Amino acid sequence: MAEKICVSVRVRPPVSQDSSSGTFWRVEDNRISLHKLHGTPIPAISYAFDYVFDETCSNAKVYELLTKDVIHAAVDGFNGTAFAYGQTSSGKTFTMNGSPNDPGLIHRAVNDIFQKIQMISDREFLIRVSYMEIYNEEINDLFAVENQKLQIHESLERGIFVAGLREEIVNNAEQVMKLLESGEVNRHFGETNMNARSSRSHTIFRMVIESKGICMHSSGDYSSSDAIRVSVLNLVDLAGSERIAKTGAGGVRLKEGKYINKSLMVLGNVINKLSNGAKQRAHIPYRDSKLTRILQNALGGNAKTSIICTLAPEEVHVEETKGTLLFASRAK
Ligand code: ADP
Ligand code: MG
Repeated sequence: MAEKICVSVRVRPPVSQDSSSGTFWRVEDNRISLHKLHGTPIPAISYAFDYVFDETCSNAKVYELLTKDVIHAAVDGFNGTAFAYGQTSSGKTFTMNGSPNDPGLIHRAVNDIFQKIQMISDREFLIRVSYMEIYNEEINDLFAVENQKLQIHESLERGIFVAGLREEIVNNAEQVMKLLESGEVNRHFGETNMNARSSRSHTIFRMVIESKGICMHSSGDYSSSDAIRVSVLNLVDLAGSERIAKTGAGGVRLKEGKYINKSLMVLGNVINKLSNGAKQRAHIPYRDSKLTRILQNALGGNAKTSIICTLAPEEVHVEETKGTLLFASRAK
């Protein structure tokens, strides 16, 4: 039976005073709808999701309601994936990475995992992390700049994996945060415009949580008591979902846009099929993009999946926002 995919929407605070006077988004409970400023709601444009977070909502609350279950299930042996989807500047990275005052989902997840495994005395854990970027359908290692254009392989022993991707064994949250910082530096290596690149690539932060049961014998010796349990957790900051037409660019930008649009479309199709249940299982197009292929084992099946779609509230973004809401509603 398909595990329900949790779909939520988050509206970031307005960046500037929106002086235009046409429409605005209203959040009520788990519903978001478009209203005319001095008039009536626009009936056709109203959506309900598992959660709708308004601009006052903190990362702490988003984590609590949305990601915590995925993280706890991962410690218990279930694969999981949490995504941030939305146009550039809508708050994906804020949600994933956070700010000094309000750490994002990655930071909270990492802390939570180490806290949780410390309280489990009858299992022994090994945690590995990796960090990669998919840019123009090429996979680059963010922990090792020399590892570029990596290939996806599949084997009986390892399942689907990215060959040559560096995995670091980690023992505490501080270590992970340091690694992530170095990854951020690598991400922008050789770039003149940091934001341009980062908004056009998907980044996947992955934790592999491996554990085995341990028994303590009366002699004081330990032995392992059962099979090894391995789960994979992906926290994904997707490329900006804005349509290429709006960016009005040719050449490199056009190529980037083509790849982004395709992989986000494939992601949408995969998620749509997963959320429609088991009947269509056989036809899920994981292989149509690197992103979905890499995430294949942590989407669907008994994996836990949570999508947060981020929205920019300003009226200039209303068309993109509608597009994001459409993506979100197809994932339900
Ligand atoms: P994206 O990654 O989708 O391109 P960002 O996360 O970089 O967007 O957000 C754009 C700007 O808006 C940043 O300056 C960010 O700090 C701010 N921002 C986004 N979401 C929020 C939020 N929920 N609360 C406060 N500031 C936010
Ligand atoms: Mg970003």
